[in-house]
Amino acid sequence: MAAKILLVEDSDTQLKFLKEGLTSNGFEVETATNGAEAYKKIFEYVPDLVVSDIMMPVIDGYQLCRMIKNVDETKKIPVVLLTVLDKKIDSFWGKKAGAQLFLSKSIDVNELVRNINATLRRYPVSDEYKAALTMKAQTDNSAQTRLNTILNDLLLKSVFANEFRNLSDFLNYERILVEKLFSLLSSFVEYSVAGIFFASPDDFAENILYLDTLGRNLSKNVLSDIRFDFFRKMEELKSVKDSKFEVVRMLLGKEIDYQFTDLKSKIIIPLVFDKKLIGGICFYTRQDMDYASFRYFDIMIGELLSIFKMKYQYTEKEFMSVLDGLTGLYNRRQFEISLEQEHNRSKRHPSDFSLAILDIDFFKKVNDTFGHQYGDYVLKTVADLMKTAFRKTDLLYRYGGEELVMIMPETNIEGAVIPVQRLRRMIEEYDFDYNGVKTKVTASIGLTMNFQEFNTAADILKSADEALYKAKESGRNRVVLHEQQ
Ligand code: GH3
Ligand code: MG
Ligand code: MG
Repeated sequence: MAAKILLVEDSDTQLKFLKEGLTSNGFEVETATNGAEAYKKIFEYVPDLVVSDIMMPVIDGYQLCRMIKNVDETKKIPVVLLTVLDKKIDSFWGKKAGAQLFLSKSIDVNELVRNINATLRRYPVSDEYKAALTMKAQTDNSAQTRLNTILNDLLLKSVFANEFRNLSDFLNYERILVEKLFSLLSSFVEYSVAGIFFASPDDFAENILYLDTLGRNLSKNVLSDIRFDFFRKMEELKSVKDSKFEVVRMLLGKEIDYQFTDLKSKIIIPLVFDKKLIGGICFYTRQDMDYASFRYFDIMIGELLSIFKMKYQYTEKEFMSVLDGLTGLYNRRQFEISLEQEHNRSKRHPSDFSLAILDIDFFKKVNDTFGHQYGDYVLKTVADLMKTAFRKTDLLYRYGGEELVMIMPETNIEGAVIPVQRLRRMIEEYDFDYNGVKTKVTASIGLTMNFQEFNTAADILKSADEALYKAKESGRNRVVLHEQQ
């Protein structure tokens, strides 16, 4: 029986020429002039081999090949791709697409026939396989539907990949990353509330469930129930000691009144890599919805996983190191270790030490107006000013995003206020200038020391935080001292 060849070529002259050559050598030949038509004919004609041009409009030879190789029912059909030039890139893509052979278009017909026969011998398609494909084509949805599905998936995959890959610039700005993720997710997925959680390699890190309510103002009860529900699921994979939630992209308005139980449908997905929980996402909606059955859900989760993976590895690197990459100050982990040490030491050998927390004023606005790179520059500059304002023995840390802390050993609060005020003034007076873009920045600072009333290192930190809060509340650009009780 003559082998059945599906010949795909968009140029009429070429098509005629090749068809004649193959037919006269005993093959049965069916033709198609573009990738979409060819794909449909795979199901209708069920060939033993496909010979396809690479350069074609709409769906090209690689894509056609990929589509054939992507589906179990068609993947065993061998594909021979014809290239105009012997370009390396053609062979690279062709192999990626799963083609069995590459031939130059300038090859003469006899050689083409020889190659086709060799390929048919190497990759014979059994009668059972062809019968199954024929059956499938008759009973299953039409080739057109399959084609559309595959095309939509391919398109979606590349759109998702693009959109998600752009997020990798924000790995060290958790808040921004989260906001961008939500804005992306909300354009693909229907939800009333969505949540994102990044698990940290550091067991002491805060477990925050970031929530997006699409700007609606939901009651604390509902949000808190969601947090509980979500972390209960995460607990199956990793113990989560404390957890809190934080609503981002918030618009304040009238509180919307519904209960947790009004959220009819949900999906909670733990993201796991290397057997470790690296994060999770969740969607809740008041509608009736079967999230898991959405075809694109897997594709989206795949892309999400790669972002979470990068973020986890980034945090892991930060966590392992001592210094913060951007500012060159000690990082938060070091701060926690030092504060504990300083506190213990002062208990054993009574001595004073002071602690200050600085938070840049309206920093979000700096980012929003001039971009994150500019924000980074401001942050780095403030850290540099800090290095010059303090003594060598003082310890400087980056505590969080734009929060810097200072531990001043052997210094009481009256002594500490001098360098702290100096720093505040230096920032206020500094002319920030990055690539010719100038601005002014101020910072607020909370100052405290190891007063008797504090039992733990955490108490001291908390009092500095409260003083900082007061500095913000009372107008910013100022130093506020913890008031002793
Ligand atoms: P406030 O005066 O009340 O402190 O106002 P603020 O705008 O500074 O508010 P908040 O402290 O809440 O915001 C901090 C912002 O800093 C959030 C985030 O966008 C930004 N941020 C945090 N870390 C970084 C960073 O490493 N680089 C840059 N460029 N921005 C950061
Ligand atoms: Mg802040
Ligand atoms: Mg701030």
